[in-house]
Amino acid sequence: MTPKKIPVRRCVGCGEGKPKKVLLRLVRTAEGEISLDLTGRKAGRGAYLCASTACLERARKRKSLERAFGAAIPEDALVPLAEEIARAEAEAAGRPAEDADDG
Ligand SMILES: [Zn+2]
Repeated sequence: MTPKKIPVRRCVGCGEGKPKKVLLRLVRTAEGEISLDLTGRKAGRGAYLCASTACLERARKRKSLERAFGAAIPEDALVPLAEEIARAEAEAAGRPAEDADDG
């Protein structure tokens, strides 16, 4: 019985190595946008982050994303990303991430 090797990646926020499947993959598009790659199949340079807004914040402060992508990241690019991560974080916490219909 050989245990399956779990691929581990490092979060650009906290720097912890974690199984790839619990991390979110971020991809920088040709347009310079950062998007969440939920399928793990998007082309482009990738970086990994915990499903955690705290880790995104840390990555932002430490300029880890700039380093990971080798390019400047406009603040604007992180706004939709932060929302997606917050949603993923809620999902990971076991809460359904449905849009609230209180509008
Ligand atoms: Zn992290």
